[in-house]
Amino acid sequence: MEKKTIAVIGATGAQGKGVVSTLVKEGSFTVRAVTRNPDRYTGEAHEVVKGDLTDNPSLKEAFRDAYGVFVVTNFWEGADELAQGHSAVQAAKEAGVSHFVWSTLPDVETISGGQLHVPHFTGKARVDELIRNSGFPYYTFVQPPFYFQNLNGQLGAQPQQDGSLGWTLPIDPTKKVIHMADINDLGKVVAGAFLHPDQVGHGSYLALATELNSFNDVLAAFQANGKAYTFNQVPGEVFSTFFEGAGEIAQMMAYFEQYTYMGPDAADRIMMANKIATDNFLTLDQWIKQHVN
Ligand code: NAP
Repeated sequence: MEKKTIAVIGATGAQGKGVVSTLVKEGSFTVRAVTRNPDRYTGEAHEVVKGDLTDNPSLKEAFRDAYGVFVVTNFWEGADELAQGHSAVQAAKEAGVSHFVWSTLPDVETISGGQLHVPHFTGKARVDELIRNSGFPYYTFVQPPFYFQNLNGQLGAQPQQDGSLGWTLPIDPTKKVIHMADINDLGKVVAGAFLHPDQVGHGSYLALATELNSFNDVLAAFQANGKAYTFNQVPGEVFSTFFEGAGEIAQMMAYFEQYTYMGPDAADRIMMANKIATDNFLTLDQWIKQHVN
């Protein structure tokens, strides 16, 4: 019997790569990578097609005959996430997609009663309602955590004024409020969702969170692996002046401190992601051992 096709938006990125790789390994589906530059694709998907979230006809073509789609938008590239989410939903509806999996985040505006503004969280959450009302036979919301990979990338330790390497951030380093995981593990949750639409395809929220850490926990995990880093807490108002976009990061850290990354009542969403995942998740310690030299 011909395998059903899953089309993966963001297949060349941090979230989508893990989705492609887990689905390919699992073997039940034909996996179609969607990218704006198919000629440059070097990943593991069975098929690659051109698709752009800002070009609706290209999406319709990319979703043609697909049973399921995984959709993530990239706020950091300036995406209008509501517009792109809307376009993806419309294209998926027209293509007859049965299972829509949307990469979302908690609605910070609502959770904080309008006190905190974190557009890259709230903008994704605003698409949830649209998906809920679109009449897909199956739809699932996945919530990615703070990637372990951030600690080695854009948000990695930096040279500090005292000559040490570490972080200067507007958050209390003793507060265990940051849900974290290896972002490659999102694929295990997404694959589980496509395999079990009966269990999580009616609007379930699946939050990937292997650990709930403070920055002191992060320092300790690196220390245990021979890396000494420091941490400086600065007020949000000061941090906001450091670079363009720092204000949003400061608001996000304030949100973490008050409500945690995944927000209130996260336990059920985390438990559901664990239950449906196709494999175990990597701990921070294991990830450091494998990826930080
Ligand atoms: P990434 O590694 O930077 O890759 C971005 C992906 O998005 C690429 O695969 C790119 O595909 C695709 N893309 C961007 N614009 C597109 C468009 N117009 N049409 C089609 N595809 C497009 O990104 P990522 O980390 O996987 O995902 C980014 C999102 O993750 C952001 O919105 C961010 O808010 C969210 N997030 C991040 C964290 C974190 O801790 N870092 C946590 C939770 C959520 P091509 O270039 O191949 O076309």
